Amino acid sequence: MIPYGRQTIEEDDIQAVVEVLKSDYLTTGPKVEEFEEAFAEYTGARYAVSFSNGTAALHGAVSWIEPNSRRYEIITTPITFAATANSILYSDFAPVFADVEEDTLLIDPESVEAAITNRTVAIIAVDYAGQPCDYDALQRIANKHDLLLIADACHSLGATYKGVRVGNLADMTVFSFHPVKLITTGEGGMVTTNNKDIADFLRAFRNHGRQDGVMEFLGYNYRLTDIQCALGTSQLKKIDIFLSCRRDIAGIYDSAFDKTDKVTPLSVKENVRHAYHLYVVKLENRKEAIKLLNKAGITTTIHYPPVYTHREVYPYFCKAEYPVTERVSAQILSLPMYPMLPVNDQIRVIGSLMKL
Ligand SMILES: *Cc1c(COP(=O)(O)O)cnc(C)c1O
Repeated sequence: MIPYGRQTIEEDDIQAVVEVLKSDYLTTGPKVEEFEEAFAEYTGARYAVSFSNGTAALHGAVSWIEPNSRRYEIITTPITFAATANSILYSDFAPVFADVEEDTLLIDPESVEAAITNRTVAIIAVDYAGQPCDYDALQRIANKHDLLLIADACHSLGATYKGVRVGNLADMTVFSFHPVKLITTGEGGMVTTNNKDIADFLRAFRNHGRQDGVMEFLGYNYRLTDIQCALGTSQLKKIDIFLSCRRDIAGIYDSAFDKTDKVTPLSVKENVRHAYHLYVVKLENRKEAIKLLNKAGITTTIHYPPVYTHREVYPYFCKAEYPVTERVSAQILSLPMYPMLPVNDQIRVIGSLMKL
């Protein structure tokens, strides 16, 4: 089977990990700082704080917000991995969903503005598929209503918005290093910020709430190990190669689907550079396509059923409030996309879809 995504691990990645295994520190040694510094430098953010995974990083970011009985709503998108909205629930905030834009599936700033009440305290935007959201519009809304802006950039490491790299476009930006993401540490996550108080808080939060050896508040063990950070530093050196492979693959899909109106790739805005974590198309007859592609040995995935459809955890949301999400989420399908996707396999994917 051709997977929808997979990691690229090479000999130098393996050597970097082996070196740590032979050293004095397996966790919380020099490799953590090395990875964080390289990550801050790459994204251009002042601070980068590593976490054991992207979900833990989101939990840390949301926990920066003071619990408040008056302001407890956080607006996010229903078209995301459930972890984005789950992180709001971890700290007893209330998720509120905004609708998305029809052609990009990014959170719609107009819908965000309409969802704001005097209880709203923050926005979590998601750079769905690897395309940055409209951060100028979101920042304007956040400033106007005194809201914290968090970017879930688990799909968009290396992407840019108006020439600014993701990691610098919000108060905090969250990344994941799961194997299907843009670089991997097995499991892993990161938060970037330009605010020193936030960085200090996050460093304590991931280490039992300890600051200078004293437990200042109730924190967690969300540390990333030296073994993983060594892999992360090695992977980060190759991010630009990975991104250019992904963009090449997207270009081949784009030109193939130009020839038909039955397969519609999501739009890419003019002022962004897309990271293409996912290549998502809209199809009228998705069910048939999944079956046919599967028979041809091609794994496809739906990213994502709207978060509010997970009724056990999100019982209170009314589908009718999200007409665009409802319509488009029934059409989307993610095709195989990863840096080392063999060209023959990509041709097989395109051929199978075209046959349908
Ligand atoms: C992968 C992902 C996460 C969670 O990251 P993990 O490292 O798997 O915990 C959160 N949000 C989005 C949008 C993701 O794609």
